[in-house]
Amino acid sequence: MAYESWGMYPKIQSKVIACSTFTQIKDQINASSSLIPYGNGRSYGDSALSENLLPMRRFDRFLNFDEKRALLEVESGVLLSEILESFVPRGYFLKVTPGTKLITVGGAIASDIHGKNHHVEGCFSECVESFELMLPNGEIVTCSKTQNRELFLATCGGMGLTGVILKASIYLKEINSQYIDQITIKSRNLKESFEAFEKYSDYPYSVAWIDCLAKGEDLGRSLLMMGDFSQDGDLDYVAKRGPTIPFNFPSFALNNWSVRAFNFLYYNRVKEKISKQKVGIDSFFYPLDAISHWNRIYGKNGFTQYQFILPKESSYEGLQEILGLIAESGKGSFLAVLKLYGKANENYLSFPIEGYSLALDFKIEPDLFALLDRLDEVVDRLGGRIYLTKDVRVSKEVFERGYPQIEKFRKLRKEQGMQEKFQSLQSRRLGL
Ligand SMILES: Cc1cc2nc3c(=O)[nH]c(=O)nc-3n(C[C@H](O)[C@H](O)[C@H](O)COP(=O)(O)OP(=O)(O)OC[C@H]3O[C@@H](n4cnc5c(N)ncnc54)[C@H](O)[C@@H]3O)c2cc1C
Repeated sequence: MAYESWGMYPKIQSKVIACSTFTQIKDQINASSSLIPYGNGRSYGDSALSENLLPMRRFDRFLNFDEKRALLEVESGVLLSEILESFVPRGYFLKVTPGTKLITVGGAIASDIHGKNHHVEGCFSECVESFELMLPNGEIVTCSKTQNRELFLATCGGMGLTGVILKASIYLKEINSQYIDQITIKSRNLKESFEAFEKYSDYPYSVAWIDCLAKGEDLGRSLLMMGDFSQDGDLDYVAKRGPTIPFNFPSFALNNWSVRAFNFLYYNRVKEKISKQKVGIDSFFYPLDAISHWNRIYGKNGFTQYQFILPKESSYEGLQEILGLIAESGKGSFLAVLKLYGKANENYLSFPIEGYSLALDFKIEPDLFALLDRLDEVVDRLGGRIYLTKDVRVSKEVFERGYPQIEKFRKLRKEQGMQEKFQSLQSRRLGL
């Protein structure tokens, strides 16, 4: 069966090992030579791809809610969207959420995802009280920051390579409204964009869309969106359902001109330097989820998301160089997202470090990887790293220099027999 990740690249024939009980998972781990858990396939690269896939979506039960502590226990196949549909009307929201709500709790832990509030709340693992992990020998262990700590540090961000996350207890945050008071700042270049991020860093949520094809004086021009939950409004949240892209677009549809036109219109639709809006949860946090299968606009060959992060001291210099290389190449991305990050956590393979990250989508075409290799050189030279959950092609050397704790991860995998049982295309490519 052809299974894909969100980037639709690479394509691989996989055997799907469908289980409906934890005992069946144990039996399958025992019987299979190697496998990888599969959440909702929203990772862009090859971390959830392998010859043997263990789909986790059917483990979707809500188990307990401790109202006093706002602590929710769920099976790992529950989607964030399902949590929102049940809990926003009761006055709760996720402490950390990515730019899509269509991911599983297991996937959120395995990628140790982050959101627009990383500089305030950190990664998803910060709101995880504990989770249950099935090891290669079928044993189920509880992991937290204090219990089986090493397994906790390796599993959060460990891309499914330490075992199968079965259940998790996560803290929610209280909200009074389903609306967000949003401020949009229009910046004319990268310097202004950075100044705006720093000036408004007290806002819990912030993200900037960058026009990555702008050159010269306009290089790095952006729209920075910041916000916080309103104190007034209601909690009558109903998830937005939008149109579907019914088929893969022809690959010529997305080219330098169409992206340039989109970027021009998107940037210029905002007239004022500073403007205020009141927006709903779906518009603020999950604008892309409004269009089902939007990944098809990149055509049948698929696309990749290139996401890197640079330490704060080299972020400005690095972004200028990288945006210059992209604008020169003419390979545009209408999704170019700049974010400010707070301090790194101690997990072995979590992506965030204190600094700035840029994420860009590129359709797969023959000379793309040569450009991305050039961008890697800059990231590597300036002490940055590439995000594993988006990656499909970074070299082992660049990856290793970016993640200095990789040897601890490898040692644990070896000692616990994880290397033989849990493998993905990515783990083999990078020798994880
Ligand atoms: C539109 C869009 C926006 C996004 N925005 C962000 C963002 O802002 N921030 C961010 O950090 N990420 C973002 N992502 C990436 C996404 O949040 C992660 O890739 C997430 O891990 C996907 O979860 P999933 O359930 O789809 O897992 P999958 O894609 O199926 O798997 C991802 C990884 O998790 C592992 N895994 C899944 N379930 C389990 C389990 N039960 N036990 C052990 N391992 C498991 C898999 O083996 C794999 O390594 C975005 C993705 C999209 C499509």
